[in-house]
Amino acid sequence: MKTNSHRKTFATIDLEAIASNTTLFKQSLAPSCQLMAVVKANGYGHGAVEVAKTALANGATYLGVAFLDEALELREAGINAPILVLGYTSPEALEQAVLHNITISVFQQEMVQVLLRLADKSSQPIKLHLKVDTGMGRIGFQTNDELVEAAKTLSSYPNIYLEGVFTHFAEADNLASAYTDLQFERFLEFTQLLENNGIEVPIKHCCNSAGTLFHKDKHLDLVRVGISLYGLRPDPALTLPLPLRQAMTLQASVASVRTLSAGSSISYGRTHHLQEVRQVATLAIGYADGLSRSLSNIGFATINGQEVPIIGRVCMDQTMLDVTGLDVARDDTAAFSIDQMAELTNTINYEIVCAVASRVPRIYR
Ligand code: PLP
Repeated sequence: MKTNSHRKTFATIDLEAIASNTTLFKQSLAPSCQLMAVVKANGYGHGAVEVAKTALANGATYLGVAFLDEALELREAGINAPILVLGYTSPEALEQAVLHNITISVFQQEMVQVLLRLADKSSQPIKLHLKVDTGMGRIGFQTNDELVEAAKTLSSYPNIYLEGVFTHFAEADNLASAYTDLQFERFLEFTQLLENNGIEVPIKHCCNSAGTLFHKDKHLDLVRVGISLYGLRPDPALTLPLPLRQAMTLQASVASVRTLSAGSSISYGRTHHLQEVRQVATLAIGYADGLSRSLSNIGFATINGQEVPIIGRVCMDQTMLDVTGLDVARDDTAAFSIDQMAELTNTINYEIVCAVASRVPRIYR
């Protein structure tokens, strides 16, 4: 990750916002409920190490990542907190995971066999969370028999520690849907089944940001908060019940301001033609920075407090704005709204922040 640059295009990351959001989440939970900061995908584009350290200093006690390399990056940065790999860990990677005390998600029978072989030769404890599919249709044990068989086999090994069992909600952000209640009931059935079979699993968890914010009866022993830790809404239709602060601001500087005559065309493909003389600013940012090319002719930037339209196609490294009538000069800074970009490009704010390219320096404050 670059931390400095000769170009004034950057993502400012407000770590105080992350700290405050973490505190607000932690305060909203029962004292017995742990807060997992989900920092996969480089902390949703914000910087995994910085976000993890900030979250841990403010009440988070567990970190969540998508795959082992993301966990190892945190360990290399000196972070010793528990880390759960939420997704798949290949048989070849398991040994490394155990060596670095990374908690692994187990969600299929084949993994059980590999883990048993590893347990036979490993002197280190192997920490696992079982994943059950209660309706997401992605990963997880699906039947009672599968789950109980895996849990029984694994828990019979002295150096295997079944620390957790979890599931993932498909639409906790849809408050009109009863599906989350249904998934939760299925999940409780699974956990009850483990208990009935004498298998004790201390950490049961199912809530993402939306679950944590809007399904307070479902927190159980731990919640896994991603998008809203960064101050963003899990769905644009939702009003956040906590005063969370957005942490990222994407900014780019003006490289040039020119007066172009009527009839001029703008950018590749000549998709925008000027009807009259206009002032056009060129920004030093493009789709290689994560500014979606789908924003061509429909997006906006805010510059000196004014919202101005993107004209013509977004290029790889440059983007043009119509700044006619505004006091805009070279080196001025333009900012982009994450939620607006998501709406205009028909996607979610998650994708916008994750798409901010690694060549864009993150400036922490
Ligand atoms: N838990 C799991 C298994 C996930 O895959 C994710 C993110 O996709 C999260 C928690 C965090 O979700 P959110 O960012 O909506 O809080």
